[in-house]
Amino acid sequence: MKKILAAMLTAVLCMGLLTACGNAAEETGQAAETEETATEAANEAEPADAVEETAEEAAQPEAEASVSEALADGVLNVGTNAEFPPFEYVDDNGEPDGFDIALIKAIGEKLGVEVQVENMEFSALVASIGGKIDVAIAGMTVTDERKETVDFSDSYYTAVQYVILPKDSEIAAAADLEGKAIGVQLGTTGDFIAEEIAGAEVAQYNKALDAVNDLVNGRLDCVIVDKNPALVFQSKFEDQVKAVDGAQFDFEAEEYAIAIPKGDTVLAEQINAALKEMMDDGTFDELVKEYIEGSDE
Ligand code: GLN
Repeated sequence: MKKILAAMLTAVLCMGLLTACGNAAEETGQAAETEETATEAANEAEPADAVEETAEEAAQPEAEASVSEALADGVLNVGTNAEFPPFEYVDDNGEPDGFDIALIKAIGEKLGVEVQVENMEFSALVASIGGKIDVAIAGMTVTDERKETVDFSDSYYTAVQYVILPKDSEIAAAADLEGKAIGVQLGTTGDFIAEEIAGAEVAQYNKALDAVNDLVNGRLDCVIVDKNPALVFQSKFEDQVKAVDGAQFDFEAEEYAIAIPKGDTVLAEQINAALKEMMDDGTFDELVKEYIEGSDE
């Protein structure tokens, strides 16, 4: 019982000192397990010997792990925001489809679990992991802030923010964005970048497409959104807008990865192994060809 109390206390302290605890966990690999143990104990009031076992597993992170708790029910519940073509969109049958969806279904197949996709708001994804959903795949950029709440798989795609402008716009460099009316999708890295721009009036939308519509209607000076969706939107409104590489505005490259519950190293390893297999055997490239290449035409 003492152990459970100690573990719970650690978890409580962790909540208050997320950053400090996160670092410690990374160094030892053990504190993270302790945190998980505490949650388990609190949720399920497991007997002390079960807790003991988990602590032993933590001492040997190398040991072949059994099944991630997230997969114990045989279902991988995946959250996405199907407003981000070509990575995710709603198909003609009203179902989420796209590169990310095909990728996570292929991963699920390798892990021997059923994949169920839940379409939700992008800004709700991170907080829903470990609750309503097991993982999120949504062209999600790895950021330090998100890493305080979730872990990420290995990265599977490199992107950058693009700037969508009216065709005749003279905006061409970072300084030109100051004081402008900028449309973004709420809670995205484009949103975070826009909020740092001096004097910018940032308009946050739930769907990037709605921002682009407002740009076309003259309500915005530009929209900041990830490269591939920007190219899709450019082709959709090709007479009205142009999509400019964010490198021209000093935006840095971003890495997409699958967000997983914090501390679920078993699931991380399984997903990373599946990803690697697909990259090695050409399946990944086939998905890139099928979904990403040509999506901007
Ligand atoms: N890559 C961006 C982010 O992670 C946008 C993702 C999205 O809108 N689906 O914030």
